[in-house]
Amino acid sequence: MKIPKFFIPAVVLALFLAGCSSDTSRKGEPMKKDFFAMDTYNTVTIYDDVPESVLDVAEKRMEELESLWSVTDKDSEVYAVNHANGEPVTISEETAELIQFSLDMAEKTEGALDISLYPVLTAWGFTTGKTQIPSEETLAEKMELTGLEKIFLSEDSLSMQPDMQIDLGAVAKGYACDLLAQQLKGDGVTSAILSLGGSVCAIGSKPDGNDFKISVQNPEYGDSLGLLSISDSCVVTSGAYERYFEGENGKRYGHILSPSTGRPAESGLVSVTVVGKEGKLCDALSTAFFVMGLSATEEYFRTYGGIDFLLITEDGEIYLSDGLKDKFTLSETYKNLPLYVMK
Ligand code: AMP
Ligand code: MG
Repeated sequence: MKIPKFFIPAVVLALFLAGCSSDTSRKGEPMKKDFFAMDTYNTVTIYDDVPESVLDVAEKRMEELESLWSVTDKDSEVYAVNHANGEPVTISEETAELIQFSLDMAEKTEGALDISLYPVLTAWGFTTGKTQIPSEETLAEKMELTGLEKIFLSEDSLSMQPDMQIDLGAVAKGYACDLLAQQLKGDGVTSAILSLGGSVCAIGSKPDGNDFKISVQNPEYGDSLGLLSISDSCVVTSGAYERYFEGENGKRYGHILSPSTGRPAESGLVSVTVVGKEGKLCDALSTAFFVMGLSATEEYFRTYGGIDFLLITEDGEIYLSDGLKDKFTLSETYKNLPLYVMK
């Protein structure tokens, strides 16, 4: 059975979290809080017997991070950097860490992860919602404004060439997961799930000691492709389906751009899920692998390792890294899909 052409998967916390409530008489039930931040829906679910105020602390931490990294908030550090006209800007430890990490990952992914694409994303309208296909001329002009070699970071000071703009959207939620998890662990949490947009991180395992089950879902039909078992790890998914527009010919233009062309990446993958210990690494790589495609992802994996992945191709094939072989189970409906394991 083949996945239809526009099969669109996503990781969602479909199971085991339903029916959670945040009332005070929990009797072993988890407590949970939903909130909107960083332009996405977020949920924190805690299974420990800790005060409910811990949920508010997590939400507040997420808001703090948003106020550092938002591209639109005039008070954010990223906004300050993007409007500094080449002058150095002092940034926080968290922002410096995330930018340095992104620059390192750009090198490891041979430029597939590029935080300097904001001017090009704007030309496509992905930043405003007024999407359009830019002219060749506009695209060439905007591409001139990108380039990581024109970003200079030295401890807490960042400067870049005038007119350049950065956007941490490809890594922010993954790193937020790490920072929120750190905060929650400090507050005594040992069993919890953080779901920040497409980034999901598990603290510990379920209270009964079993792994959390994360559903890799087909949102087009609302059913589950399969389940990933995880504990103490993060699962981050990237795909063009999250944000795209259709051209007149029905062609889809997705929000993840290839830094070498400035156009939506067309690598043959429809969805990339990365599993690992660090949210920021999973987030960086899910975006980068989406740009790189199957064989470059395999090459990265053989060179660096350190993570696992589940890739779905346009043709409905599934590629798993070896470490997920016993952690991913296809659902009954899709049990005949071609599934390949990469060692
Ligand atoms: P993610 O959902 O983590 O894959 O991040 C996608 C977001 O990162 C997009 O909405 C853009 O804001 C930004 N972006 C798009 N293409 C790239 C790229 N090649 N490298 C870094 N960030 C990108
Ligand atoms: Mg990402």
